[in-house]
Amino acid sequence: MLARMSGEHETRFWHPFADMGAVRGKELVIERGEDVWVWDAEGRRYLDATASLWYCNVGHGRPEIAAAVAAQLSKLEAYSAFGDFANAPANELTARLAERAPMRDARVFLGSGGGDGIETAAKLARRYWQETGSPDRNRLLVRTNAYHGTHGYGTALAGIPANRAGWGPLPEDVSIVPHDSLDVLRQEVGRIGADRIAAVFVEPVIGAGGVHPPAPGYIEGVAELCEQTGILLVCDAVICGFGRLGTWFGIERWPDVVPDLIVFAKGVTSGYLPLGGVVASGRVAEPFFAAPGGPILRHGATYAGHATCCAAALANLDLLERDGLLARGQELEGDLHDALSQLAGHELVGEVRGGTGLLGAVELAPDVLADRPGAPAELGALARRSGVLVRPLGAGIAVSPPLTATPDHFELIIEALSTALDAMASARVAG
Ligand code: PLP
Repeated sequence: MLARMSGEHETRFWHPFADMGAVRGKELVIERGEDVWVWDAEGRRYLDATASLWYCNVGHGRPEIAAAVAAQLSKLEAYSAFGDFANAPANELTARLAERAPMRDARVFLGSGGGDGIETAAKLARRYWQETGSPDRNRLLVRTNAYHGTHGYGTALAGIPANRAGWGPLPEDVSIVPHDSLDVLRQEVGRIGADRIAAVFVEPVIGAGGVHPPAPGYIEGVAELCEQTGILLVCDAVICGFGRLGTWFGIERWPDVVPDLIVFAKGVTSGYLPLGGVVASGRVAEPFFAAPGGPILRHGATYAGHATCCAAALANLDLLERDGLLARGQELEGDLHDALSQLAGHELVGEVRGGTGLLGAVELAPDVLADRPGAPAELGALARRSGVLVRPLGAGIAVSPPLTATPDHFELIIEALSTALDAMASARVAG
């Protein structure tokens, strides 16, 4: 029997990234979803301006995905994919992803989410060099503000300082470089030596670290440096994929850039079931696929190639294609950015970012954050009171609605945020 505090439900659910001392009696229980809307257990409706956690690209409550999942569950829920076992949904999904990926002769390694995809990419990058005669190429390069999940490598690769703190020593063969400086990246490669660097990890548009689209020429510059030095280019497309930037993996927005590895998750199923993975180029896969008796990647999780998760992904890909949703991340990026830019003049706002893909951020002014470090959470809470769910980040809030959203929904987001900002400004004056 769960204990109760002041008549409120005392939760046993330890939430990720949560101040459980505050959340323990105050959960927002989401009960139902339909398209861009969700309802809580009290029947209040909210506009889901973040597609849950950047993933519900096709919108909530899609019967097509539910039907595909039910059909697969009643046929074969799951079966191991270790060794030579396979199943039809995993084969079809990997074939479809490989065909759509921008690299030649791609192979797809499956897992359960973005964080384990990052582990796979980090290990695979290092293992590739072990197998191809450069055993010293172990270092991984990553950018400030990067978020690559919270597993072992993901923690070591965290470009958000708070996510690296509090765990004791982390692996040392990681360099963190400013996310917007090609020069510093080049200097770091010079300092370490390319012959000691396995890979560089890049989110095409940085998401959880504050929504930072890359500076013009940055992505191409990283790709060029990788090409010159052999360093593997890992594209973390966990947020940017499956239509968020208007393409399959986001990175195609830079047409001359061909990554060696792409990590994907989230939008691949729109979150209907957990799934993620890594697309590897033919170059990286070759040593492992060349001939029997070659190296074995002793890596992989129980649910790799989970048949029902793959069936959910296939139905989701069908919807992205059938409903023309894939392109919408790009089609709507200007509208969303214009809408958010209406807030740029507000006295509490420092900066509005976005314009590349259907995601954006409103950052609070430095003096507001200095006065009240909890201001982003306050802004999120006030917007929620107006029926709009946005995502508080370090210095502001982010939005990344489902790809089914329209400019009318963007106006609702702006109304809720400006009401919230006005209330915060009045409280500041009064305080
Ligand atoms: N990479 C990026 C860019 C992400 O945004 C996330 C999660 O938000 C991850 C990796 C980790 O994915 P997951 O939470 O599925 O482990």
